[in-house]
Amino acid sequence: MTVRDRLTPMLSDLLDLVLPASCALCQRPAGPLCAACRGAVDDCIHPSPRVALPSPPPPGMPQCWVSGEASGALRALVTAYKDEQRRDLRRTLAALLAPALRAAVGSSPDARAAVRGRGLVVVPVSGSPRARRRRGDVPLLPLVETAVAGLSGRVLVADVLVPTRITRDQSTLDAAQRASNLAGAMAVRERHEHVVAGAVCLVVDDLVTTGATFAEAARALHEAGAADVLAAAIGATRRRVDGARHSQEPPT
Ligand SMILES: [Zn+2]
Repeated sequence: MTVRDRLTPMLSDLLDLVLPASCALCQRPAGPLCAACRGAVDDCIHPSPRVALPSPPPPGMPQCWVSGEASGALRALVTAYKDEQRRDLRRTLAALLAPALRAAVGSSPDARAAVRGRGLVVVPVSGSPRARRRRGDVPLLPLVETAVAGLSGRVLVADVLVPTRITRDQSTLDAAQRASNLAGAMAVRERHEHVVAGAVCLVVDDLVTTGATFAEAARALHEAGAADVLAAAIGATRRRVDGARHSQEPPT
């Protein structure tokens, strides 16, 4: 851990104004992301957002929009943000997430009506209690808050989901194991049930792999009375027909 990592986010932002950070991917002194690595990340981004189609899709998977493919530089960038204390990538990643959010809202008449009316409830999938303890915070939350600033209309970011039991680390599990690991593992906080009841919810994660997390989040939100659930992520893992993974997945 460097001195920079120990600073508060605000102090770190101030420091970035006077001291250039290293690139999060290649460590050259051109941070937070140098031009060459920026190009490698952009190569992972689709010309326009797409619907992610895990194969097989887990039962109850909401329609999920993604900006790019969760491989190579894009996956490394998310890992650097979440697990290597590169929180100075927040704006970069938020800008990559924003098109998927806009596509999700644009695809749904109910979501478009929600942002014009009672408000769209955006729900970050905040990771397991183990991940929260390891990281000491929930890095997805400020990223989502920054990304939704680009959405017009009424949008409420609400961290409403809580785990109902201990789950295993998803990174070593296949699609079927992930689905059973997460089945019934989430619930809406009691004090937030009124936020969800009757609302159109947009569940957001950084990367989507099997869709099991989104399926379980949607189940919990529907159980709490959500009118509709959509999903969005920065990127989706491309899967072969046999369901095997192309690349190592980060812990969730
Ligand atoms: Zn670089």
